[in-house]
Amino acid sequence: MKIEAATISAPGADFEIQTLELSEPRADEIRVRIAAVGLCHTDLGVRDQPYGMILPVVLGHEGAGIVEAVGAEVTKVAPGDRVLISFRSCGDCKMCGAGQPAYCNHLIAMNFGGARLDGASSFEGKVGSNFFGQSSFATQALTYERNLVKLPQDIPFALAAPLACGVQTGAGSILRALNCPPGSSVAVIGGGTVGLSAVMAAKARGCATIILIEPVRARRDLALQLGATHALDPFAGEIAPAVRAVLPQGVDYVLEASGVAAAAQAAFGYIATRGVLGLVGVPPGGSQLSVPLDLAITFGIGVRGIIEGDSDPDVFIPELLDLHSAGRLPFERLISTYPFHDINAAIAAQLAGEVVKVVLTMDGA
Ligand SMILES: [Zn+2]
Ligand SMILES: [Zn+2]
Repeated sequence: MKIEAATISAPGADFEIQTLELSEPRADEIRVRIAAVGLCHTDLGVRDQPYGMILPVVLGHEGAGIVEAVGAEVTKVAPGDRVLISFRSCGDCKMCGAGQPAYCNHLIAMNFGGARLDGASSFEGKVGSNFFGQSSFATQALTYERNLVKLPQDIPFALAAPLACGVQTGAGSILRALNCPPGSSVAVIGGGTVGLSAVMAAKARGCATIILIEPVRARRDLALQLGATHALDPFAGEIAPAVRAVLPQGVDYVLEASGVAAAAQAAFGYIATRGVLGLVGVPPGGSQLSVPLDLAITFGIGVRGIIEGDSDPDVFIPELLDLHSAGRLPFERLISTYPFHDINAAIAAQLAGEVVKVVLTMDGA
């Protein structure tokens, strides 16, 4: 069928709205009419560095919409179901079996392969597809059972979309990956969707001290409204003394959500004994972190990378929806909606720091 999609034809180029021919769903595929799709930092990272992807490529990995058609083997959803489209995993490997699908052995092929697993595009012609098993910067997307979580009737698609990646990554980093206990202290570096979702989750968990480190004043102010106890400007001076002025013994958990390697490095100046540095912001390729071994050993400091907040979407998305319903995860505060066709203007606003989370909405959604 004919669809409209936002494509990237060259590294770093603007998105172009194109008409493409989408294949019929195969036996294991599901066609979803996209109503809303979030814009995540990873979309822009791949736009700028598409690695081995076929160009043009259709990105987009926070889709939400209505199932319109399913292949013969699909049992999890049926036409008419309202769904959120998260990342894809295989369901059969050791990590999927352990409830950790974000570390699926097939994560790269299934999310960044730029095609179906047999190499065929979901589109007619040479067009990169299957980004995160969805390529949802489009009016219709082909996806898979493992991507999908059914949505309740009462949540608007534009509100739900960021749960698919950004919100679950930030909240999951606190609630699942670092599993910060009530009463602990947390510093979050970077006040975008991931960082501010982490702040809200830390508040919901009952963390005693929640520090946001972020240069944009409006985002620091928002963090204080969302539950941060302190908000620090990293460019106002040395960050370690500023954090230690709040917590002389240092911070129990540091979540690096800015993708700035130097900011991750600086955390060794203010992390507490037996503290953990969680790395979730994606820095430019080839970035390095230098672990001060004497400090790490003497004080029992841990460092770990985190994908998608260790989320198992089928389990965790309903938990996040419950937290939201209870008013304890007010992520609607982060969202600004734009018409799908205004994708480049929306990106410009996000890069300028004018909005935190862009969600693109389709006509009639
Ligand atoms: Zn797997
Ligand atoms: Zn993402």
